[in-house]
Amino acid sequence: MMMDELGFDRLPLSQDSFSELWENVSAPPINTLPTVIDAPHETWRLDGQIDLLLHNDQELTEGFDESLFAALPPDVSTRDGVTPPSSAVPVTTDYPGECDFQLRFQKSGTAKSVTSTYSESLNKLFCQLAKTSPVEVLVSKEPPVGAVLRATAVYKKTEHVADVVRRCPHHQQEDAAEHCSHLIRVEGSQRALYCEHMHTKRQSVTVPYENPQVGSSITTILLSFMCNSSCMGGMNRRPILTILTLETPEGVVLGRRCFEVRVCACPGRDRKTEEENSAKNGTKQTKKRKSAPAPGTTSVNSVKKSKSASSAEEEDKEVFVLNVRGRERYEMLKKINDTFERQDKAIRNKPVKQEMACPCSGKRLLLKGEGSDSD
Ligand SMILES: [Zn+2]
Repeated sequence: MMMDELGFDRLPLSQDSFSELWENVSAPPINTLPTVIDAPHETWRLDGQIDLLLHNDQELTEGFDESLFAALPPDVSTRDGVTPPSSAVPVTTDYPGECDFQLRFQKSGTAKSVTSTYSESLNKLFCQLAKTSPVEVLVSKEPPVGAVLRATAVYKKTEHVADVVRRCPHHQQEDAAEHCSHLIRVEGSQRALYCEHMHTKRQSVTVPYENPQVGSSITTILLSFMCNSSCMGGMNRRPILTILTLETPEGVVLGRRCFEVRVCACPGRDRKTEEENSAKNGTKQTKKRKSAPAPGTTSVNSVKKSKSASSAEEEDKEVFVLNVRGRERYEMLKKINDTFERQDKAIRNKPVKQEMACPCSGKRLLLKGEGSDSD
């Protein structure tokens, strides 16, 4: 539908005929197609955009935030020539391309002291705020002269993907750098360029691709992330992906790699926890079932737990057997239990109006003693 209006069937893919294209599409609905218009020389993106518009399958339409387009300024006729490539919804699929573009991370393990560590199984980098994460870039074929590497951050979840990833107001404020709003920085290069797309407002940083030094097969770039994942008003606990692209000087993508990033205080610990959780995930359900109090357990906790968890009256009628070691302890627990029993009996025999007060206070006492049960 929209295709016809814009004359997309006639759309020339060659960059040479951009002026022709411009003539064709500069009708009012132009503002719905900002990324096509403002980056004429990126044929990959032109393709990608058309692809996005043509596909009507769920995968693409789901989570595609139309407000993203609505929020764009209606007047795009004052476009300037050089804008960094970024589609409205950045592409996050890996694409090795002709150069077989690959990333590699140093093996840093999960020690407490580690400031940056990458999990192979989760494809996720865990790092501390503003600490350097070396990322090794490998290609099988030399990219064209002037090629650049670009790093862009994007929210991982569909419901957040339309939001631009930026630093939180707090961290922006205390930073005097011109690019203080950028989450991702490239360290150790004077040639790092910080860009913001004029329409999507997405931020990215580029560095010229440098061929590996003699005797090496890799090029290393140093990334740092300038907010914690938990930063209020910034990422706000929303997981992000980092997209690394290898591009020609004109912005044509030669290769793309994505990985998740978590910026946190204890990268080693968090990586370990998340890897364990992901490994466990399959068996979690059955384990939960098993944790019901088994007869024969000596743990007082298990009884208390089941009591406090069972706010429903029906569950309160369930009878548990508790084996206790030592007479003294037994007498003590029996006394407590007898008190509850007497209370219950009294409630059953008394007029209705007291029914609410007694069991309530009894339960509250019990809960107090347990403290962190809910954790
Ligand atoms: Zn922050």
